Amino acid sequence: MQQASAGTWERIADEIRKRVRPQQFDTWFRKVRLADDSGAQLILKVPSEFWRDWLRSHYMAAIEEAVRTAVGPDVGVGFAVDSALASSPPREPAPQAEEHRGGRESPGEPLNARYTFANFVVGPSNRFAHAASMAVAEAPSKAYNPLYIYGAVGMGKTHLIQAVCHACLASRVRTKVLYVPCEAFLNDYVFAVKNGSLESFRKRYRQAGLLVIDDIHFLANKERTQEEFFHTFNTLYNADRQIILSSDSAPKTIPTIEERLSSRFRWGLVAKIDAPVFETRAAIVRKKAEMYGSGIPDDVVEYLAASVDGNIRSLEGSVIRVIGFASLTGRKPDAALAAEVLGESSGRRSAVSMREILDAVTEVYGVKITDLQSRSRTRAVVRPRQVCMYLARKLTDHSLEEIGRHLGGRDHSTVVYAQEKIEAELKRDKGFRRTIEDMRARLSDA
Ligand code: ADP
Ligand code: MG
Repeated sequence: MQQASAGTWERIADEIRKRVRPQQFDTWFRKVRLADDSGAQLILKVPSEFWRDWLRSHYMAAIEEAVRTAVGPDVGVGFAVDSALASSPPREPAPQAEEHRGGRESPGEPLNARYTFANFVVGPSNRFAHAASMAVAEAPSKAYNPLYIYGAVGMGKTHLIQAVCHACLASRVRTKVLYVPCEAFLNDYVFAVKNGSLESFRKRYRQAGLLVIDDIHFLANKERTQEEFFHTFNTLYNADRQIILSSDSAPKTIPTIEERLSSRFRWGLVAKIDAPVFETRAAIVRKKAEMYGSGIPDDVVEYLAASVDGNIRSLEGSVIRVIGFASLTGRKPDAALAAEVLGESSGRRSAVSMREILDAVTEVYGVKITDLQSRSRTRAVVRPRQVCMYLARKLTDHSLEEIGRHLGGRDHSTVVYAQEKIEAELKRDKGFRRTIEDMRARLSDA
């Protein structure tokens, strides 16, 4: 096997970041490096034996998944102790101790350096949201306030709203930019209530010149936090500060969000991001390949753009796996290699279990697992059962027989029929497509 290419560790680290909390990453991964000459497996250099044992016992699953996603299937991971690393300065500002920070006192989350306007590919599906974001970046609080961007998982919401943050930070006007995933806002609030530090909580949020709350739909069912956010919103709005929100659905369709909040969300501009069309997907593949320092031939671009339709995060994952696998094995990233990596990306596929699929489907359709496995042929049960079969075909390595067995001992032709039926329905029905795409994205993300 070849030398690991420059950037391999960065890609793996990006994937690890998605799987562990920021403080954990700071504590355990910032000093880790990839050995220059990895042999048959990737060797992670760590500062001490204790460190190695800790990673093995606490983070092995995250590391292996990250390597699978960033580099390719069937790549082993080993460790080497390099005590010189212990004194190496961290590459980013030194993290504060976990106990102190606990993710709660942090003034917003760090931005992903790659989520810039320059790296964002514009197409018909996101043109409006992109233009609105540019307008806001150029004239915060003047163009549209609040800016509310919504769309399904992996459509580029976080990328776009962080691009506004980057642009504001780069501009000469000094604005205090606060980017906060909604969950962090919730945690912050709960922590402040528990510790009697509401005053400093309020001060922190109400000082922002630009407040960006990502995935605001997480406020659903959180009445007290909604109340608090309502006041934060009003204070900022009245002081002419820019507010940007992202969500998985339109303002009025977030369940159990108070009307007075959802109506405020509509005061400014609401922009939706749709699934990208084929040409945009191809352009994104090219862009990502370029970002990861590798060109890929047109037929591979098309292969990738055709094989992943909705979720751009999955599309990006495919690009990374193809490039990573090519660089690690010293082969050209051609269509054959892409088919090999994606067609049988067993690592990723078996990550989803039958049980998770059944759980997701029963939740979405409100049926019981026993119904799915029963003999019932009513439409209310047949459809979700077929969805299970379809998802299992797409997301797991189970054979037709195994899938049939999980669904009440049905034979393989029933599973084939279900898959065809669902595929036909997906072509016809946009709403249904959306539901299925969401489930797929959620299942492959979990
Ligand atoms: P969301 O927040 O909507 O779930 P993200 O912003 O996290 O989606 O996007 C998922 C991935 O897809 C990110 O890595 C992002 O860079 C990439 N992405 C999404 N849209 C685009 C785009 N138009 N151009 C380039 N990359 C994109
Ligand atoms: Mg997001």
